[in-house]
Amino acid sequence: MYRNDEMMKKLDEFLLDVQKPSRYIGGESGSVFKDKEDVDVRFAFCFPDTYEIGMSHLGMKILYGLKNRVPNYWCERVFMPLPDMEQKMRERNIPLYALESLDPIKDFDFIGFTIQYELCYTTILEMLDLAGVPVLASERTALTPIIMGGGPCVCNAEPLCDFFDLFAIGEGEEMNLELMRLMEECKKNGSTKAEFLEKAAQIEGIYVPSMYDVSYNEDGTVQKITAKAPAPEQVKKRVIKDFDSVYSPENFVVPFTDIVHNRAVVEVLRGCIRGCRFCQAGFIYRPFREKKTNTVLEQTKTLCENTGYDEVSLSSLSTSDFSDIEGLLETLTAYTSKNRINLSLPSLRVDRFSEKIFEEISAVRKSGLTFAPEAGTQRLRDVINKNIKESDVLSSAKIAFEGGYTSIKLYFMLGLPTETDDDIRGIYALAKAVIDEFYQNPNRKKGKSPSVSISLSTFIPKPFTPFEFEPQASEAEIKRKQKLITEVCIDKKINISWSKYDVSLLEAVLARGDRRVGKAIYLAWKKGCVLDGWDEYFDFDKWKQAFAECGLSMEFYANRQRSYEETAPWSHINMLVSREFFVEENKRAHAGVTTPNCREKCSNCGVIGNIGGECCKNLR
Ligand code: SF4
Repeated sequence: MYRNDEMMKKLDEFLLDVQKPSRYIGGESGSVFKDKEDVDVRFAFCFPDTYEIGMSHLGMKILYGLKNRVPNYWCERVFMPLPDMEQKMRERNIPLYALESLDPIKDFDFIGFTIQYELCYTTILEMLDLAGVPVLASERTALTPIIMGGGPCVCNAEPLCDFFDLFAIGEGEEMNLELMRLMEECKKNGSTKAEFLEKAAQIEGIYVPSMYDVSYNEDGTVQKITAKAPAPEQVKKRVIKDFDSVYSPENFVVPFTDIVHNRAVVEVLRGCIRGCRFCQAGFIYRPFREKKTNTVLEQTKTLCENTGYDEVSLSSLSTSDFSDIEGLLETLTAYTSKNRINLSLPSLRVDRFSEKIFEEISAVRKSGLTFAPEAGTQRLRDVINKNIKESDVLSSAKIAFEGGYTSIKLYFMLGLPTETDDDIRGIYALAKAVIDEFYQNPNRKKGKSPSVSISLSTFIPKPFTPFEFEPQASEAEIKRKQKLITEVCIDKKINISWSKYDVSLLEAVLARGDRRVGKAIYLAWKKGCVLDGWDEYFDFDKWKQAFAECGLSMEFYANRQRSYEETAPWSHINMLVSREFFVEENKRAHAGVTTPNCREKCSNCGVIGNIGGECCKNLR
């Protein structure tokens, strides 16, 4: 038996009354169905956001395919229903179910969440509650379901420790299968949850929070984190060493309805050679590894043939840093153009934006081009180690304008460490220089005029970056800077937009929070906070009340300068890059000194010491 007929009947009664019912029925092409009689371990893979967002996520597709390759393991997908669907489910006592079998996920062995951004934390609690699973780990005593989390946010999982049984730190391909094998063994032996967790804590990369005690100083900072045997004192991130041969999905679940990124995606590289000091992804995914050109080609062909997609995107933190990017594009376009497949390349850096790359992407990019200088002056770009120059931005703009584009979007951050008003004025100056570049082109089309959109976000200090010690700028300071830039911006061809401060503040609090923050998350959720990443559902007043009722200060977590000596809430997690390196990089930032990228020179960030010499060897 593959699907739960009883659940299907219940859903049939009302599904046509909710928006986009196809989000909730499963059965899409590429879905994996198994006979439950043959399955020993069941995994509910939850994405704590809507179907459209979760279905676009490559990590989920990788782990879904990988686990389902094992005949007696079944991994199914679960997303957060939107409020209209959730209300109907609650009215009819329908628990959260998985899209393949339609079985309630409370009966699964694992309920695993991929945690991509901090603003999904209350959605995780809502999904557990809707599933009929107690949200507090201490109230779940049976062996199953084990609630686990992975993804970038778990590098500081402390605010979530009250709710989860374990976290998978680092790359999940090997760890997930090891955990499933352990569950299979524990179920056969009749082990308890405590016995399972004790064994899980000994798998490299697995963090079992209940096996660590945290004490605090009088000033509220963390005093000590103590591991209980046999848990390791430091949980070391897992890394896939042979990236070229790592599992890559041969098929995707192809949705009935449109999703955010509805196309084939092939991962070309992991990690980043850069060291932008604000960027968490740039450090937590180290070391840099890339696939061979032929591997990318074969994976592209297989995926396009199996899914029928006519668009493929190359995925990475910075695709243009692929060592032979032009050769790769030439190889891929020979296949994609012959088969009328569009090739899209997100994540391009302006200093690697050549005419050749532009030619390859311009066939599919119709709207505008986006570049991310991040800061308005060279001084501040040096502080943040964004090793690009104004001339890089202008030469990219020139190529784009000559290719017929007229609109360019530029991303910047406000509130970066050491930022002055001159840096804010520099944002406008750079945007104006881009406009001027358009008029330098003698062959520009008559009657066309350029436009530049300046998009401003508020800088959020993140753990495992050289800026993890920095305070986030206050709301008053950010508002003053927003006002300043609108005053200096006198060119009507330039428009400016910015993100809400409240959202950035909450993200900063959750990103560097300790275990006590879990109480505020719980209370905010109890007050009705859910889907906080969505403007229409975000209710900052409820969050403020929740923190106040717990006696916790948001400013303590977000706006406070942290000393190099302070014990970070995440200090028992080893993401391979050393704390000493971050301290050194922070000092270099304040001195305005840049650090070369890994391809130019190894800066001994700690990765080599942790995993051996592979990362540097790979770069040569
Ligand atoms: S060890 Fe060197 S090459 Fe490797 S990630 Fe760190 S700085 Fe880059």
